Amino acid sequence: ATPMSIMTATGRGAQAGVLIKNAEALERFEKVDTLIVDKTGTLTEGKPRLVAVLPEPGHDEAEVLRLAASLERGSEHPLAEAIVRGAEDRNVDMANASDFEAVTGKGVKGVVDGQAVALGNLALITDMGLEGGALTEKANARRDEGETVMFVVLEGKIAGLVSVADPVKETTPAALKALHDLGFRIIMATGDNERTAKAIGARLGIDEIRADVLPEDKARIIRDLQDKGRKVAMAGDGVNDAPALAQADVGIAMGTGADVAIESAGFTLIKGNLDGIVRARRLSRATMRNIR
Ligand code: ADP
Ligand code: MG
Repeated sequence: ATPMSIMTATGRGAQAGVLIKNAEALERFEKVDTLIVDKTGTLTEGKPRLVAVLPEPGHDEAEVLRLAASLERGSEHPLAEAIVRGAEDRNVDMANASDFEAVTGKGVKGVVDGQAVALGNLALITDMGLEGGALTEKANARRDEGETVMFVVLEGKIAGLVSVADPVKETTPAALKALHDLGFRIIMATGDNERTAKAIGARLGIDEIRADVLPEDKARIIRDLQDKGRKVAMAGDGVNDAPALAQADVGIAMGTGADVAIESAGFTLIKGNLDGIVRARRLSRATMRNIR
């Protein structure tokens, strides 16, 4: 495209809330046929809220929440914030955890009140040789509602679970419909559990779901699609999404997301709403039409 047409598109984009970082993104976006979207913070608001604490027999709710929140005070993950805020709202006092360790894509571990505590997803407890046991059915029912369930492990045994809900952004359903109408195949890639991802994906008419994805896997999923000849755009907001945003033919960051995501992307959606992608596509088409 000519410098002039790029400048015009950049100006129009900025007015419409789409920051266009480079001409290549604009040029390449016209050819994109596949859109990968992160779930948390991209499709959803990314502000999860604690909605349930379910203890195993022999434990109580306040105890399970105290253990979970004490540990999560050491984490900056949005799920951690939800749990800490949930404990504060319920006036559950927290202890100082020690030996804190974050397990990427799985959860957290540490010592609370001199006892070993872990908190995280099925992969985390599986790694510890544990199973959901009696709580599995309750966990699945929660996931089918789109909630994210985390197990709380105390001294090597499941003590209970905590569940958080992260509402879909108000603008997401209409934006996804418009993007489908533009002909994109839409794939959700998330570190979250498959049941949770499917519950949300089904509501939104997502074409394909890749769940339980570790951060390094998102970029690999994109590379595999590219190897098959697909032109791929990736929309994400997290630190975890940065490698995938860089790998994609066009990276699209949420302006509400992490700085490193924004730096890795060709487009930034200032308001963090996916409808910005519809506008970006129109600008891309108009720019490329002008130069032919
Ligand atoms: P995403 O941002 O795509 O949802 P993450 O890789 O950040 O994925 O997290 C994947 C999963 O790992 C979460 O759904 C959760 O089950 C677990 N997890 C990660 N960090 C934490 C944490 N601090 N506390 C509890 N669970 C966590
Ligand atoms: Mg995210």
